[in-house]
Amino acid sequence: MHGLMQDRPLALPHVFHRAERLFGHKKVLTATATGEDTVSYAEWAQRVRRLATVLDRLDLGPQARVASFGWNTGRHLELYFAVPCTGRILHTLNIRLFADQLTYIVQHAEDEVIFVDRSLLPVLWPLADQLPSVRFFVVMDDGADTPIPADPRVRDYETLLAEAEPKQGRFEIDDENAAAALCYTSGTTGNPKGVLYSHRSTVLHSLMPLTADVFGLSERDVLLPVVPMFHVNAWGLPYAAVLAGADLVFPGPSMTPAALLGLIERHRVTFTAGVPTIWMGAVPLLKEHDLSSLRLVVAGGSAVPASLSESWREAIGLPITQAWGMTETSPIGTAATLRSHHADLTEAKLQHVRASQGQPVPLVDLRIVDPDSGAEQPWDGVSAGELHAAGPWIASGYFGSDGDPNFTDDGWLRTGDVAVVEEDGYLRLVDRAKDLVKSGGEWISSVELENHIMAHPDVREAAVIAKPDVKWSERPVACVVVKPGAVLVAEDILEHLRPRVARWWLPDEIRFIDELPKTSTGKFSKKTLREQLYPVPAD
Ligand code: ADP
Repeated sequence: MHGLMQDRPLALPHVFHRAERLFGHKKVLTATATGEDTVSYAEWAQRVRRLATVLDRLDLGPQARVASFGWNTGRHLELYFAVPCTGRILHTLNIRLFADQLTYIVQHAEDEVIFVDRSLLPVLWPLADQLPSVRFFVVMDDGADTPIPADPRVRDYETLLAEAEPKQGRFEIDDENAAAALCYTSGTTGNPKGVLYSHRSTVLHSLMPLTADVFGLSERDVLLPVVPMFHVNAWGLPYAAVLAGADLVFPGPSMTPAALLGLIERHRVTFTAGVPTIWMGAVPLLKEHDLSSLRLVVAGGSAVPASLSESWREAIGLPITQAWGMTETSPIGTAATLRSHHADLTEAKLQHVRASQGQPVPLVDLRIVDPDSGAEQPWDGVSAGELHAAGPWIASGYFGSDGDPNFTDDGWLRTGDVAVVEEDGYLRLVDRAKDLVKSGGEWISSVELENHIMAHPDVREAAVIAKPDVKWSERPVACVVVKPGAVLVAEDILEHLRPRVARWWLPDEIRFIDELPKTSTGKFSKKTLREQLYPVPAD
């Protein structure tokens, strides 16, 4: 027997109309090259309605892929709603990808139009002729002085909007499982893969950060999404903010720590989120700003060293809250918010909890599995295994590909991460399977070694990679960036590590380098480091 409840689609039009109705006075602010632009939600909603008309006029059919190539801006938020609320699919392109990956992705997705920030034209326009599916390039003028190409495919965003009447009435999406947005993984191994979010997955994922034990986002918050809108929809935060009716502050093209801290101070930001490298860069400047409005600073995308969270706590009294996820998980899967049983813990023990990836958020199931036997491992804080995830906002496959090995026969996602889970459900990522150092049949966690090395007061950044070894098969090598003005030798690092890790975990080599290479999403690129230090000899 079925329940007798209304079967209404969980779809983005509800989020849009609710915001338009209830929160018209709330603000969407964007930092620009020349200042700041602010619109009210009411004005934003009218612009979304105009943009919906523009999409019709560009002759984009149902399910057309509409791509964006932009910074975090209010205009990008217009695309976030106008595209899916009219049945099209928003494909957020990563502006930092290499040209060949970008052309591959645009062609694979069959994007018909790309909305591009003017300041990013120099990156995109040289590829235009290699993108035959793209009929229009709509330029969003962000005040940059980049020349606009005289080409029949090029249109101006503001002109199109000004010429279009706002679309009237309610947007309707009948099938909650219809696709809403597309985002490609950054392809650290092989070609990037498309993750296709549905309306239902997006709405459910937007509700989750509003729950008190996740981030408790509310109408009273002022949100600054630092994580790019092209990276897993800025972790879904813009959708969550609009659902809650929170004020939004977008950083635009200026992503320096000083610019971000300035925005937090000026606009009394309460909640912000980004990858750890951004928050590391901010540490020396924290004391120069009044950041008392902040109630939650979230970091994820790569491990948050305990020392980073502690630097924030010491400087402004607020530690960083860690979260874990991936493109395939929309992305939020866990968050290291505290529970009642942590109330009496000492600061040292709390640091340990904060250095975990946290507890699964509601509606996400996790399991750890022995990769050889396939047996599920106990949650005892010791047994490690491959992390699998399941839930309504976890991918079930990739766009345009059948039977990918990342999905198990019983429908779980293989994350490629190796983890242990504590008895209380807190996840600790040991490593990415491909980053583990396999030494003499045992593994060494590069993440744990990095965590310890970065706790050295004179170390700014560290990455541990495996070096091929005849006897042990692999041995760890630490690449270390020292803080400006500090001087360290290898023995200083080894001495710091000796009381903290097993003897055989000690890196065979410590290499001091000026800077760690970063990926297109700002994480340490161990792949690049490995290629630089241990190139595979050509056959
Ligand atoms: P990629 O980094 O491959 O471009 P994603 O952005 O989807 O793609 O990254 C997902 C991966 O990032 C996870 O599988 C995990 O390895 C890593 N990651 C995400 N959050 C954390 C975290 N809090 N701690 C450690 N690693 C993390």
